[in-house]
Amino acid sequence: MPHPLTVIPAEQLADGKARIAAAVEASRDEILGLSHRIHADPEPAFEEERASERVGEVVAAHGYAVERPAGRLSTAVRGILRGGRGGSRPRIGILAEYDALPGLGHGCGHNSMAASGVGAAIALAAVRDELPGEVVFLGTPAEERGSGKQFMLDDGLFDGLDAVLLYHPSDKDHVEIRLLASEDVDAIFGGRSSHAASDPWMGRNALDALLLLFQSIGLWRQQLRPDARVHGIVVEGGTAANIIPDRAVGRFMIRSTDQAYFGEMHDRFRDLVAAAALATGTTGEAVFSGSSSTMKNNMTLVAAFERNLRGCGVEPGPPDPNLGSSDMGNVSWVVPTIHPCLAICDAGTPGHSIEFREAAASPRGDETTLIAATVVAQTAYDLFRDPALVDAAWREFRGED
Ligand SMILES: [Zn+2]
Ligand SMILES: [Zn+2]
Repeated sequence: MPHPLTVIPAEQLADGKARIAAAVEASRDEILGLSHRIHADPEPAFEEERASERVGEVVAAHGYAVERPAGRLSTAVRGILRGGRGGSRPRIGILAEYDALPGLGHGCGHNSMAASGVGAAIALAAVRDELPGEVVFLGTPAEERGSGKQFMLDDGLFDGLDAVLLYHPSDKDHVEIRLLASEDVDAIFGGRSSHAASDPWMGRNALDALLLLFQSIGLWRQQLRPDARVHGIVVEGGTAANIIPDRAVGRFMIRSTDQAYFGEMHDRFRDLVAAAALATGTTGEAVFSGSSSTMKNNMTLVAAFERNLRGCGVEPGPPDPNLGSSDMGNVSWVVPTIHPCLAICDAGTPGHSIEFREAAASPRGDETTLIAATVVAQTAYDLFRDPALVDAAWREFRGED
């Protein structure tokens, strides 16, 4: 990657970062208005029509050339802003998720993430005259289910990026993150319906197969490694109590910190589905989709983000021992990536909860949204203004240090 090495005087860098902070403050109402509109109008994975439209409209209003849809996903957005100093490098990706959780709304706070990504894009547009290369804003659907970013990776929307930045709301402040490999799997059982009182022996009970599968998974948990997870819900379990169900569907997720062990879990899950089908005389199928990977944190970018975070008065803590999963893991194996988390509520507040959802549109959540917009933009600015930092991130990524 040819980057002519230039030395930026410290006061010039500080001046640019002050302009970024001022730009976020000047757009406070626009950023928080967007956050609250998305929060009040939650849309689940792959259905974020209004959120993606709103996000696209705001970045377009700040000079970005916007494509919507971008690639195959109808709710993916790409906005490109060319820097005023010309050239095509570096290309820094700023990401925004905006999917909500069915039945819970924005219990993961993606409204705050979306607004902070847009806020960072607005702030970088305000210092466009100082930037070489391109800012690439990506609205990324379907983080909660289906690994939307993998579709976007396959569609080439991350091609040529030098770094990818975002922020995720949390109950703690930390920049490095550990992620479990994760995959969605539907267990689909097919039986034969019959009258549950007059002809039950004529039926083949698909719900029984699903219940057996839950039992098997419960027993399997005792033998699972401590860092592995499997959990699920019933999606379809029959239509009436007096009909033997001819179809039952469970939706599960399997997770592990170890990619090889994750593969073994796949095989075992398939066996459990087959065993439940055999025991009940039904058919059973495990349909896997949307895998997400473990996270390769780029520590060069982590350090840059932490410096800017401290500059905003926030002291980052150690990585969270509570493990989740994200399709950002998939991105992190392709391009230098970080997944910083900043608190919008008190430590100990569970994610995916009503309390967390309320925090995502609270005054504290709003302040965090603005801090995140500032720090994401300032870290991008560091990368735009210091080619040595981009090179260091790539050297680390390739294991050359
Ligand atoms: Zn999330
Ligand atoms: Zn979530």
